[in-house]
Amino acid sequence: MNLYGVHRWGCGFFGVADSGNVFVDAPLESGSRRIELTDVVAELKSIGFEMPIVLRLENLITARVTQLNQAFRNAIESTNYKGDYQGVFPIKVNQQNHVIEHLVRCGDKFAFGLEAGSKPELLIAMASLRNKESPLICNGYKDREFIDLGLNAVRLGFRCFFVIENLHELDLILERSKTLGIEPLLGARIKLSTKVEGNWQNDSGDRSLFGLTTIQLITLVDKLKHVNKLHLLEMLHFHLGSQIPNIRNIRDGVNEACRYFIDMTKEGANLKYLDLGGGLAVDYDGSASTNQNSRNYDINEYCIDVVEAIDNALTPLGIPHPTIITESGRWLIAPMSILLFDILAVEEFAANQKIKSESGNSGIDNWCEPVLCLFDTESNFDQHRLQENYNDTIYNLDQSRRQFSSGKISLREKAIAENTSLRILNRIVNLVPSLPYPSPELLDLKDKLADIYYGNFSVFQSLPDAWAIEQIFPVMPIHRLSEMPTKNGVIADLTCDCDGKLDRFFVDSASSGSLPLHELRSGEDYLLGVFLVGAYQETLGDLHNLFGDTNVASVRITGDREFEFLELINGDNVADLLSYVEYQPKLLLEQFREMTMASFNDGRISLDEAENTVAVYSAALKSISYLTSS
Ligand code: PLP
Repeated sequence: MNLYGVHRWGCGFFGVADSGNVFVDAPLESGSRRIELTDVVAELKSIGFEMPIVLRLENLITARVTQLNQAFRNAIESTNYKGDYQGVFPIKVNQQNHVIEHLVRCGDKFAFGLEAGSKPELLIAMASLRNKESPLICNGYKDREFIDLGLNAVRLGFRCFFVIENLHELDLILERSKTLGIEPLLGARIKLSTKVEGNWQNDSGDRSLFGLTTIQLITLVDKLKHVNKLHLLEMLHFHLGSQIPNIRNIRDGVNEACRYFIDMTKEGANLKYLDLGGGLAVDYDGSASTNQNSRNYDINEYCIDVVEAIDNALTPLGIPHPTIITESGRWLIAPMSILLFDILAVEEFAANQKIKSESGNSGIDNWCEPVLCLFDTESNFDQHRLQENYNDTIYNLDQSRRQFSSGKISLREKAIAENTSLRILNRIVNLVPSLPYPSPELLDLKDKLADIYYGNFSVFQSLPDAWAIEQIFPVMPIHRLSEMPTKNGVIADLTCDCDGKLDRFFVDSASSGSLPLHELRSGEDYLLGVFLVGAYQETLGDLHNLFGDTNVASVRITGDREFEFLELINGDNVADLLSYVEYQPKLLLEQFREMTMASFNDGRISLDEAENTVAVYSAALKSISYLTSS
């Protein structure tokens, strides 16, 4: 089924099997192997692992690390480029232990490194990296402790670079280096003038928060020259922003950075590395366009463009080609994770056939004007005058609401007006696709009449970017895909927040405010997956309404329909969540027990009832925050 565009955003990993279930294709050394997500879910269910679940597919990390390194190698081989490529993974994009461990393991043969932007991340990197050829890039602001840690990493033989973000850091680094007797490896982060499109455009341009201005860069060079340490400056670093949709911005950025590289070399710097930061984008909506949820290039074009741009700039001047470093996080890790959740209920936006509208049954003899007009529109419905039917319906619906507010019509009459309108509008919406030139209002009607599917998850915890920056993530049912969906829905989460919803999708190659979905079947789960959520989402998620971390299952695909669970991590239970906001669950239980016993002492409840009530409270503390089927 092409409706959900999985063939476009699926990165070659996801698709729909003949069974109607979503499959994952994992490239293994012995060829690609396929599993269906429903098989994984069934196994998890059989061991009592409940929805919502974040599924991490370890094989997809290996596949992406290999693809990235291979694409750069191919680009280097196909040009005149004499330098090398090394990637690093920015830990902030997904800091989870299992993810970093696996990245380091599968990146080892490419001397793939890590990027740390804080002390905790540096501690992770220092304890995780094994290959001493792998770069360890320290970005962000650094204090004495951070610098001492990095210098100790150098002492251990790591290629640990301090990327200088401001000039104060330099003095501290030189001072600590002298005290500890360890020569640092230095990089300079530059502020490029190149501006990028998309969500992160403030990371680029003259007013970006990070990096050195040209004046500061020259001051840095002079300072290092002054203390005879310019040879320590081996790396030039820039970062234009995350998710750069347009390849032209990337080329412009590399071209501009090369100008810095050339003149810094002329100034006497011993530059051996050019670090392009992150920005390699993911095609979340599958449109292959320059909108912020997509990109107009693929990995091969990205690598070729970068390599060629550096080659073209440096070769004519006889400047040795640097090792290219990228800090791609999103592209590397997004496909790895899928958020799976079940639909708990659906609120339909259809008319209620049971509301009585005949005068005898309703007890109303003389219908008010708006209701009479709506009855008239319905009985004289003309499919060749859809816009007129629509206009009349909306007008009279509005009139009924005004008249209700001013006390002229009753609650029942208002209900009849709304119910009749819904009947008419649902009739119109079914006919809109047959119109050659439907108006924007008629086109919007589908979304306005969309049912609300209530999902067992929290947008704020599991998909924070969907709320914060209106990011589109691909969403689709993971089963029943050989059956055409007959409904249209938006997805509401469990939080009591009007922003806790998914209502931006890409359907049938176009953006849409609702998603085609199936009707629920009684006694059967209806499972949805949100794909490409491996980057940033787990880390940025918050505890809105105290919905905590979901369950997490790390899976390794081992063969066709064969997989193993590497790790099953239970989500936060209610007691965990309460302690995050400074409650002491034990104390709460005690307080509650005392209150219950006071009710027993007052004779309000029996001892049995008191014990039961305390047991219910105590069990709730141990349960997870999401809804369970038990
Ligand atoms: N490097 C730096 C310095 C960053 O700030 C970021 C994120 O914004 C990245 C790398 C990762 O970017 P992306 O996930 O787009 O590859």
